[in-house]
Amino acid sequence: MKDTSPKSRKPRTNAVHAGTRRSQYGEVSEAMFLTQGFVYPTAEAAEERFLNAGRDDFIYARYGNPTVAMFEDRIAALEATEDAFACASGMAAVNGAMMSILRAGDHVVAARALFGSCLYILEEVLTRFGVEVTLIDGTDLSAWQAALRPDTKVAFFETISNPTLEVIDIAGVADLAHAVGALVVVDNVFATPTYSRALELGADVIVYSTTKHIDGQGRCLGGVICGKQDFIRGTVEPYLKHTGGSMSPFNAWVMLKGLEHLDLRVHAQTETATRLAANLTDHPKLTRVLYPHDPRHPQHDLACRQMDAGGTVLSFEVAGGREGANRFLNALDIVIISNNLGDAKTIATPPYSTTHQRLSEDRKATLGITPGLIRLSCGLEDTDDLIDDILTALDAV
Ligand SMILES: *Cc1c(COP(=O)(O)O)cnc(C)c1O
Repeated sequence: MKDTSPKSRKPRTNAVHAGTRRSQYGEVSEAMFLTQGFVYPTAEAAEERFLNAGRDDFIYARYGNPTVAMFEDRIAALEATEDAFACASGMAAVNGAMMSILRAGDHVVAARALFGSCLYILEEVLTRFGVEVTLIDGTDLSAWQAALRPDTKVAFFETISNPTLEVIDIAGVADLAHAVGALVVVDNVFATPTYSRALELGADVIVYSTTKHIDGQGRCLGGVICGKQDFIRGTVEPYLKHTGGSMSPFNAWVMLKGLEHLDLRVHAQTETATRLAANLTDHPKLTRVLYPHDPRHPQHDLACRQMDAGGTVLSFEVAGGREGANRFLNALDIVIISNNLGDAKTIATPPYSTTHQRLSEDRKATLGITPGLIRLSCGLEDTDDLIDDILTALDAV
């Protein structure tokens, strides 16, 4: 019999078909099951459902829902993991992954260059419950080696960090972490499922904020945790279904439809980012351009080994510090000032004064978050129009 499993198909096919569950009406577009609960035909069936629910036996939307299950199966097929659990936001996913694995007395090693809310979970939440956290320079394998201990349960990092686009060696960290029996949990937002090879390189748990490229049009919050089936159903699901971080059916439907054209969008956005990075190299108003596939990126070789392309985001430092950055931002016409990324609209973010404002000056300096830094998430507009907008705005600096 012909193999019709996701494994036998390519990502673009899985992005359109994997996980589909058709109702008795045979609808083409996936149905949105906007329901909290489910009807049991008899009292005995109700009892049996609570006792022994299979993957397609639904009870309550916090536990699971057909639209959410379609999204989970589709993203798992794209990421090549056995299973996935969909969450209310990227932070519900990061929190859910960490809280479901860890207990008092455990140790976590994490890269210090992290999304601000991830830092909050590590430094403010986990430590309150007796988990010890060591933050290191994630690009330095000897720092991982030195920090990992027999009681380390999790190694956590963003595979490409926000906003300075450091690339972390997934295979290198995984070898070291697995040697002490720790799980490798990665926040893979900047790599996107399109360029992700996280599982193959040794990550055990892959987390996405689906708010970013997977929605791709700036509408809904969402997150997902991908991993082995026994981990997802035995460790993650009990924690999330009882603590309330599940994804809503409406958001799951938006994300599910977003996956259908994720690959096309991410490729187009990456092409723009690549062209922009090339156009900005050596620009007299810029003191630094950061793009993983730019030959001058500090981890260029690793970035090329780990990813087929540089991704949809680039960062650069405008001359003249905060004053320069503000002049640039205020002179933009097409590009908007905001803080999402992966959106169809190109977005410029000044991390120093917005997303990373809370960090101390020292910490910002260590992370390379300077007053002139701009993170640019490339959208789906015409590339020539974007280049023109950005070069014109740089003239104002
Ligand atoms: C946005 C983001 C998050 C948080 O996701 P939300 O959906 O906003 O909760 C976590 N990690 C990274 C790298 C992100 O970009």
